Amino acid sequence: MKDPRHILKEYWGFGSFRPLQEDIIRAVLEGKDVLALMPTGGGKSLCYQVPAIAADGLCLVISPLIALMKDQVENLRKKGITAFAIYSGMSRKEVIHTFKTAMESNCKFLYVSPERLETALFKEYLPGLGIHLVAVDEAHCISQWGYDFRPPYLRIAALRKELPGVPILALTASATPEVQEDICQKLEFNDRQIFRQSFERANLSYSCFNVDSKINKIIRILQKVPGTGIIYCKSRKRTKEISELLRLQGIPADHYHAGLAQEERNKKQEDWIRGQVRVIVCTNAFGMGIDKPDVRTVIHADVPDCLENYYQEAGRAGRDGKTSYAVLLYDDRDLKELEEMASLRFPSLDEIRQVYQSVANYLQIPSGSSEGQYYDFDLTDFLKKFRLPSHTVLYSLKALEQEDWLAFNEQVFLPPTVMFTVQKDTLYEFEKNNPALEPCIKTLLRAFEGIYDQPVSISEKMMAGLMKKEAEDVKKELTVLDHFGIIDYRPRKDNPQLCLLRGRVKAEDIRIDMQAYEKRKEQFRKRMRQMVQYVKDETNCRSRIIGAYFGDEKINDCGICDTCLQKKATVLSNEEWEIIHRRLLTLLQAGPVDSKQLLQQLTGIPKEKAWKVLTFLQAEHKLEMDKDGKVRLIPG
Ligand code: ADP
Ligand code: MG
Repeated sequence: MKDPRHILKEYWGFGSFRPLQEDIIRAVLEGKDVLALMPTGGGKSLCYQVPAIAADGLCLVISPLIALMKDQVENLRKKGITAFAIYSGMSRKEVIHTFKTAMESNCKFLYVSPERLETALFKEYLPGLGIHLVAVDEAHCISQWGYDFRPPYLRIAALRKELPGVPILALTASATPEVQEDICQKLEFNDRQIFRQSFERANLSYSCFNVDSKINKIIRILQKVPGTGIIYCKSRKRTKEISELLRLQGIPADHYHAGLAQEERNKKQEDWIRGQVRVIVCTNAFGMGIDKPDVRTVIHADVPDCLENYYQEAGRAGRDGKTSYAVLLYDDRDLKELEEMASLRFPSLDEIRQVYQSVANYLQIPSGSSEGQYYDFDLTDFLKKFRLPSHTVLYSLKALEQEDWLAFNEQVFLPPTVMFTVQKDTLYEFEKNNPALEPCIKTLLRAFEGIYDQPVSISEKMMAGLMKKEAEDVKKELTVLDHFGIIDYRPRKDNPQLCLLRGRVKAEDIRIDMQAYEKRKEQFRKRMRQMVQYVKDETNCRSRIIGAYFGDEKINDCGICDTCLQKKATVLSNEEWEIIHRRLLTLLQAGPVDSKQLLQQLTGIPKEKAWKVLTFLQAEHKLEMDKDGKVRLIPG
């Protein structure tokens, strides 16, 4: 077996592993089931890629995000490592072709999206692939109690039977202790090993502000803190509004959300990464897979709906280790909305059925048919035609997805495909008569193997390189060839796709596991409550609150969040000091007192001031606080 360090150097050119990477890799190579928690950007991919290269055989990677999956495959190929991907939207032929190629080549990585796992095809080819490791990315998606449950993930458990003895490495950036436990259970870990990177971000200063004007506060922050920033908003409309207001103030800003065309999004993202635009105002669609080290501020103009998301989004600041700011802005209305959100997010069964019916009508799906077929689904157009509240529709679709009635992908990127549809002699004849199109035909035949027998994914950009033309011109030529009936050209699709997984049924036959649904709703409420608590907390270190949420109790006071700074900034006059000191001693002389009660009994004294004296006396060993929070005097 090759040495992991050598592999790291040889394929990535990195000199050393990051914290935990080496431990995780060792455990994986020992054949253990492992759960790894590392922040986004922490380097989770290497944890399965290195051991997969070190050992013989193939690593099956389960990943929910098609766009990221393709990036990974491309990056591995650039290093000369054979890798393939299978995802929703690929035709049966393409899937078979991929399986066969994977078996015949020295394939090291096969990426699959989870909904592909249970297909008969998969079961047929799985045993022949020589899988020795299964990596589950975004593993928290397997838990119903987490913030991003995806039902197809439950199918991963079935792999255990198909692949006995093959270890599983589950990876996630954030999971509460409850969800961690659930992941291990669902994946049937036997000799489990959990590796958790500290949730501490020593250079990140968290703060929360209750403000009347969010935009004024944003401008003030950006004027005070130089450097790149991200501003997260809930609605697409707001991203545009805020970025316009910032530009009026002379702050270079742009907006970004999932409703923009892919090419526009890429451009905006690139401009921001290269520093041509200082601030990006966006929805949470922004940031996935982006690794920009020098972000100085992440401002949330709205309260996110769980600490998992908040931690991840705020964590995009200060990757380079320099002091950076994560600021959350809120007003009383935001907090009220959070409290009411659960009923919006969890529509009633009647509402869910009505949405199902409307969608099936909209797509004109005949009853009893079309199982497994994908349809273009234009949500905006649908909402306009059916006049249903967008929340109800979105969350009903989600509920239907979670119960396996349908699959709805906001963004499925189907690559463009081409297949020749004429005999070779006809093609030859055509080339003779249309010499201008000959280079295009030749390039197709040379660059894409198997294109004569089946639809093959092509890349217009790559063809443009070979033909020394612009990609737009290549697209035009392909369209012409398609019109002539020479090829079947399907340009890239990036519109949302919807699929009724069990064919169309009567609305009243839609069943939902209401017990699980109610429990998910309760869990959701709990997450909201914890989010509100975080926002309102004025005494505890923010870094510690976040750590505790993820089960990391070992974090020290960060000293740089707003609550820590507040404590430090409290100045006491000698007189105040004396008064508090005396009252404390009097209260404690009768015996130990619970710290909370103690603070209450010090009526008229601000908490920070009382804490200041308490902390001082503790440091001087005049008194101590035990682990139950009881404060007592130390005699002597
Ligand atoms: P995650 O999946 O945890 O969000 P990635 O696996 O995408 O993170 O890695 C993030 C970045 O960190 C990548 O650019 C990767 O090349 C880099 N990286 C990972 N491990 C190391 C290492 N040991 N040394 C240097 N860079 C690393
Ligand atoms: Mg990752």
